[in-house]
Amino acid sequence: MEQLIKKGKEVFMSTYAQFPIVIEKGEGVKVYDKDGNEYIDFVAGIAVNSLGYKNERLVTELKEQLDKLTHCSNLYWNEPAIEAAGLLVEHSGLDKVFFCNSGAEAIEGSLKLARKYAKKNLGADKNGIITMKNSFHGRTYGAVTATGQLKYQKGLDPLLPGVKYVEFNNIESLEEAIDDNTCAVLLEPIQGEGGIRPANKEYLKKVREICDKNNLVLIFDEVQCGIGRTGEIFAYGLYDVKPDIVALAKGLGGGVPIGAVIANEKVAEGFCPGDHASTFGGNPLVCTAAKVVLEEISNEGILDNVKVQGNYLTKKLNELKDKYDFITDVRGHGLMLGMEMNIPVKDIIKKCMEKGLLLVGSGERIIRFVPPLIVKKEDIDSTVSVLGSVLEGEI
Ligand SMILES: *Cc1c(COP(=O)(O)O)cnc(C)c1O
Repeated sequence: MEQLIKKGKEVFMSTYAQFPIVIEKGEGVKVYDKDGNEYIDFVAGIAVNSLGYKNERLVTELKEQLDKLTHCSNLYWNEPAIEAAGLLVEHSGLDKVFFCNSGAEAIEGSLKLARKYAKKNLGADKNGIITMKNSFHGRTYGAVTATGQLKYQKGLDPLLPGVKYVEFNNIESLEEAIDDNTCAVLLEPIQGEGGIRPANKEYLKKVREICDKNNLVLIFDEVQCGIGRTGEIFAYGLYDVKPDIVALAKGLGGGVPIGAVIANEKVAEGFCPGDHASTFGGNPLVCTAAKVVLEEISNEGILDNVKVQGNYLTKKLNELKDKYDFITDVRGHGLMLGMEMNIPVKDIIKKCMEKGLLLVGSGERIIRFVPPLIVKKEDIDSTVSVLGSVLEGEI
């Protein structure tokens, strides 16, 4: 692996601080590096590999689709895209879909749609967007502007005009920020990169009411918390609050790159032919993956598994919290959980990797748990046992 990593360092821009392993293959919730070491993977490509590695149906259908057609552009229709969009409409309770390739692009599409809709229907000066402090929406200019964390914006100014940040889970902060120009509110129902912080139920209901009262487009970023991660296909299912637009990516393709914007009929009319596009968006290969993921998640007991295993993992993590006083909180929903500590988690994560367990942080003091949605009790037991042994070394 050493030789390969040396080569990698020569040819890549240094945007990532990789761990010194080269992942070669995976099966179920396990991955293997090029030296044959096995890891239990509670990162899952950062909440991407929803069906685990080498899911039989996903692999078979992708191979069949490769034999037929990979890409044909949006000048023409393709059947997998129509099927995948149909499933998204069916499960979201919204009406219209736009496919793209990543989370950031889904956010860009959502922001553009909100402004288009508002300017057309409510007035030319309706362009203000309100987002949350501590949020994360991606790395393109619009998405990084929407992201309410300075560390991602450093050195990039001038950013997109018209964006304001308010306190998450704080209604007064939102009410104060709304003015005559405001057109949209964007938030993650569960903040992912910001430390696995769920919205309060009452708060989210109130945000919906405020948006209705002020004619604002409510956008949920479910790039991380959507597609079964919380035990509901959409995290807003936990809250009983429906957005006007939802942005998706990560888990939607089970590992192939696909993003989506879904909107209700009224807001979707903001886009006319020519207003927005993406060359790769909704190509037949990636849409085959999205179709398989959506069908598997809704038909194969996976949502129940997420709830059962999520509760079990929460219980196990709370047992660790009771044992070690440097663990200050365990929170989240389903298989999107965070464990907050009053010490940095970087070294703990590195030591877990050396013992065959992959974990990822969310901020400096929170370990995030986002395993494949097919994870079993035994995997959780192994994970908690490795983590426990590493934590024991921290006292
Ligand atoms: C990862 C993430 C994004 C950005 O997705 P990319 O595919 O990396 O562009 C946006 N929003 C949330 C909530 C995310 O977790």
